[in-house]
Amino acid sequence: MDTNNELYKAGLLLHGHKCPAMPMGLRAGLAALKKLGVERAKDGQLVALIEIGKDHCATCYADGIQMATGCTFGKGNIQKLNYGKFALTLIDRKSGRSVRVVTRPETIQKNKESEFIGFRMRGVPASQIDSKLVDPLVDYILNSDDDALFQVGEVTETRLPAPHPHDFNTTICEACGELVIESYARIKNGKIVCQPCAEKI
Ligand SMILES: [Zn+2]
Ligand SMILES: [Zn+2]
Repeated sequence: MDTNNELYKAGLLLHGHKCPAMPMGLRAGLAALKKLGVERAKDGQLVALIEIGKDHCATCYADGIQMATGCTFGKGNIQKLNYGKFALTLIDRKSGRSVRVVTRPETIQKNKESEFIGFRMRGVPASQIDSKLVDPLVDYILNSDDDALFQVGEVTETRLPAPHPHDFNTTICEACGELVIESYARIKNGKIVCQPCAEKI
């Protein structure tokens, strides 16, 4: 894969800056799809469990995962487990199979030793770092074999409960007048209100 790859370019557009972690997620997601023998999720047929947390290095990984797998925040078929680890479990609801892809410590270490991460550790935003420093890291991630970057686990059986049907029922909050999904509304002092209003009145 090179930087002209459609998914990489779309990932970069979504993510906003050039860094090695977004492509790392992209490659991890693609490795998981390949191992399961499934296509990127158009709807909610795949579920991604990602083990990153927040406020730590390389969380950008999550955007690459979303781009590759089609498991997105908007569709709700991605979940963060907050373990502070760079691993992904991809579950195919249809076949009831899953695979876990773990980023090798060496892959992270290679980034950590770079001048690019040196700047990031000193608080420089990624978009303000000379792209000459990040290009070799991105190329390494895009061009290395799956096995060099990740440990791709065995496919295992994983059955998920059927997803809840989407709720299309809406109401209007009697306090702020904004629309809210019915099952998220509250009754406060005999009025149907949204949650922020329920806390205020
Ligand atoms: Zn990033
Ligand atoms: Zn309200």
